[in-house]
Amino acid sequence: MAQAFFGGIHPNDQKAATNKKPIETLPPPARVVIPMSLHIGAPCTPCVSVGDYVTVGQKVGDAPAFVSAPVHASISGKVVAVEPRLHFSGVPVMSVVIENDFNETLCESLAPVSDPDSLTPEQLSALIKEAGIVGMGGATFPTHVKISSGLGKVDTVIVNASECEPYITSDHRILLEEPEAVLGGVKLLARIFGVDRVHIVIEQNKANAAGMLKLKIDEEKAPAVVDVLPTRYPQGAEKQLCQSITGRQVPPGALPAAIGCAVFNVVTTIAIYNAVYHGRPVTHRVVTVSGSGVNEPKNLLCPIGTPISDLLDACGGVKQETFKILMGGPMMGHSQFDMSAPIGKGTNAILAFADKEERTVEHPACIRCGKCISVCPMHLQPVFMYQYEAAGMLPELEEAHVLDCIECGACTYICPGRLHLVQAFRAGKQKINNAKAAAKAAAEAAKAAEEKKKEG
Ligand code: SF4
Ligand code: SF4
Repeated sequence: MAQAFFGGIHPNDQKAATNKKPIETLPPPARVVIPMSLHIGAPCTPCVSVGDYVTVGQKVGDAPAFVSAPVHASISGKVVAVEPRLHFSGVPVMSVVIENDFNETLCESLAPVSDPDSLTPEQLSALIKEAGIVGMGGATFPTHVKISSGLGKVDTVIVNASECEPYITSDHRILLEEPEAVLGGVKLLARIFGVDRVHIVIEQNKANAAGMLKLKIDEEKAPAVVDVLPTRYPQGAEKQLCQSITGRQVPPGALPAAIGCAVFNVVTTIAIYNAVYHGRPVTHRVVTVSGSGVNEPKNLLCPIGTPISDLLDACGGVKQETFKILMGGPMMGHSQFDMSAPIGKGTNAILAFADKEERTVEHPACIRCGKCISVCPMHLQPVFMYQYEAAGMLPELEEAHVLDCIECGACTYICPGRLHLVQAFRAGKQKINNAKAAAKAAAEAAKAAEEKKKEG
């Protein structure tokens, strides 16, 4: 029985512009820029050089640590640069730039596993790492790490197809167009964790996808159940999803595995299926291009590393009065200032907004209405956290549990004073983490100096 989580909001889902549009393949880009950081964790090390010829699916960046994921070429052609290039985070990141030969030559070493049923969970996890699979709903946490840390602890596996952010329809279209691949991935997850059934969570506004998947599950006798949940933001946030399905709450600072849950985005689930049954690493993803500033909104299948400008061009460009372009949804997405930035493994949407949607005001001011507190799904008090951050009161900000903020943006959405709440919390978390890192470095330096003094 589904449980409700605290707080949340009901924004207009704005999905009608693309939810009936089949996925189209983007015209091949002339170049792609593959950043060495397309995931949470250690950045990759380039393993190709300028002048090399690379093929689709060939590894171009090695993962140097367990918490990392390799990156692969998404087109075939010549490596024309290995250098820092603008990343969608807004800073330069070491990248491999490939010029397209338009042959789409597949890497010869890509091959499906001959007997997937013979693989142990540990072997499947290793294969998932080699395929560069990360949380493709936007979190980009390496999937093999989530699997490894959950083995033996997890009794509830959840596939997240709730797609709760407005405008985005890429998961919805994938559910409708690739149900066999979804269930293929679901069966693998059930086997990895040894569970009888996997929960596939879909919001009410995607009833057609839920109905179709239920039929397929019955047909295939797949180890899965579809949970249709009310359309409410942030229904798809990992901790809220665990609560909705199991009634258990993830403790502050902990991960879902702490309460026996593991959550995988539906695109991640398909990526697992493709890696095992087709030998394909993550090279492409579906991106919704929408918003009031886009001339022809679409769902596009794109090579990873394609510049944002190529996606916008394929949608007839943006309207003149466009004032903002986001990577990701309107609640959690990040503003983009340079359209040469490439799309990543977690890019589910590119949204452009024209001026009638401009909500910012010149002088944001709190009117003490308390609405932000009533919608916060993490039971936080955004109004006070905002004041602490603005005053530089970092200890108070940490005591107010800003580190538990999931940056869902529900408080910013509801705020009548138009305060930039979530932006302040992102900045506040960064300051707290920087202060902790600086204190740790100072303590280590003092300890080293003390030891040197003793030796002397
Ligand atoms: S952004 Fe953070 S503080 Fe605001 S509603 Fe979401 S979890 Fe709460
Ligand atoms: S919602 Fe905005 S205006 Fe209302 S209390 Fe919170 S910060 Fe202040």
